[in-house]
Amino acid sequence: MALTNWALWRLPNRGLIGFVLLVDVAAIAGSAWSFLRIPFTRGDALPFAILIVSAVAYTELSRPVERVRERFAGTPHISLDSVWTFAAVLLVHPALAALVIAVSFFYRWFRGQPNPLFRRMFSTSATVLSGFAAAAFLSRYAAPFDMLPRDVSAFGSIVAAGGVFLLVNTVLMTIAVYYGTPHERLRDALAKPFEYALEAATIALGVIVAWALRDWPVVLLLVVGITLVLHRGVLLRQLKRQARSDAKTGLLNAKAWREAAADELDRARRAGRHTSLLMVDVDRFKLINDRHGHLVGDRYLAAIAETLRTEVRGTDLVGRFGGEEFVVLLPGTPAVHAHAIAERIRSSVASRAGDLPEHVTVSIGLADRPGVTDLDAVLAVADRALYEAKNTGRNRTSGYQVTG
Ligand code: GH3
Ligand code: MG
Ligand code: MG
Repeated sequence: MALTNWALWRLPNRGLIGFVLLVDVAAIAGSAWSFLRIPFTRGDALPFAILIVSAVAYTELSRPVERVRERFAGTPHISLDSVWTFAAVLLVHPALAALVIAVSFFYRWFRGQPNPLFRRMFSTSATVLSGFAAAAFLSRYAAPFDMLPRDVSAFGSIVAAGGVFLLVNTVLMTIAVYYGTPHERLRDALAKPFEYALEAATIALGVIVAWALRDWPVVLLLVVGITLVLHRGVLLRQLKRQARSDAKTGLLNAKAWREAAADELDRARRAGRHTSLLMVDVDRFKLINDRHGHLVGDRYLAAIAETLRTEVRGTDLVGRFGGEEFVVLLPGTPAVHAHAIAERIRSSVASRAGDLPEHVTVSIGLADRPGVTDLDAVLAVADRALYEAKNTGRNRTSGYQVTG
C-alpha cells in the first residue's frame, strides 16, 4: 500500500491525524527504548513464547464464532485480546509484551478483519502504551509481578494496574473515536458500559493467565475454554441486539418497538401513569429522494433518528415504524408535556440541515389516551392526528389543543 494512499490522510481533521501519529510514534519509541535500556532475563523466554502461541491459537479457535459475526456486517468486533496481552504486560519484558500485543492484533487483522491498517496500528499502539503505563505503575508502587508476594496488598496493586491499563486505553481510544466519528454516529461509536465490563473481565483473565504461567501453566487450557464461551456469549448478545434494531437508523425496528411499547403501556396502566405517543412523518420525503437520490434520503433518515434520540429521555421508546415514519412512546408524560416535546422535535428537525442539501420538516400526530392500553388503539389515534397535521399544512403537531 503506497504511503500516499493511506486512509489515515483522509481522516476528518489534522489534529486527529497528528494524535494518531503521536500515539504510534510513542509506542514505537517506548518499545525501542525499553529494548535498549531494560535488561532481558532468562525467565522472559518461555512465557513470551507461550503467550504468542496462545494468542495465535486462540484467534484460530475462535474463527467459527467470528465467521458468524462477520456474516452480520455492522456488529463490532469483540476484543478479548487482553487475556493474552495483559498477561504479557505483567510477566515479560516491556518490549516483548509490545511484541505479543502487536502479533495478537495483527494476526487477527491478517485473518480477515477488514479495517484500515492505520486503525489496527493505532489500537495496537494505544494498547502498547497502556501496557507500559500499567507495568510502570506496578514497578513504581509495588514490585514487578514476579517479585510480588501473594498477599492482599499485592493483589490490590495488580487490580490497580489492570485499572491503569483499562483507563489509558479507554482515554486514547475515546479521543480517537470522538474526533474521528461524524456527530450523528457518535452515540453508537462510543463504548457502552457492557464493553467496559467485558474489557475488565478479560483483563482479569489476563491476571489469571499470568499467575498460571508462573505456577501451573496447564491451567491456561481452562482459560482458553472460558474465553471461548465468553466470546460466544457476547456474540449472542450482539445478534439479539441487532435483531431488535433498524439498520439504517439504529433505532428499534417496528417489531421490537411494538413489543417494548405494549409492555410499557401495560406498566403505565397498572401504575396509573399518563403515557403519550408521537407519530412522526417526514414531509414530502418523496421529493427529497427524487431530487437527491435514495442514498441522500437515507442520510436524512439517520439524521432525523438522531434528532429524535437526542430530544427525548433515555427511557422513552423511539422506533422506526416504517419507511419515513417514526414513533416515540413517552412513558409518564401527560399530553401537555408531550406536545412541548413534539414541538421541540419539530423545530429541531426544521432548523438543522447539517451537511444535508436542504432543510426538511416533519409532521407529528400526538395521542394521549390515559384510559386506553391497547397499543393499536393508541396508534390509530396518533395516526388520525398525523393525518390532520398533513391536511392542515404540514410542519406541525396535531392531536392536542393548546389552551390559555
Ligand atoms: P407526505 O408529506 O404526505 O408524507 O409526503 P411524502 O412524500 O413523505 O409521503 P409518501 O408516503 O408519498 O412517500 C414516502 C416516501 O418515503 C416514499 C419512499 O420512497 C420514501 N422512503 C421510504 N422508506 C425509505 C427509505 O428507507 N429510504 C429512503 N431514502 N426513502 C424511503
Ligand atoms: Mg409516510
Ligand atoms: Mg412523509
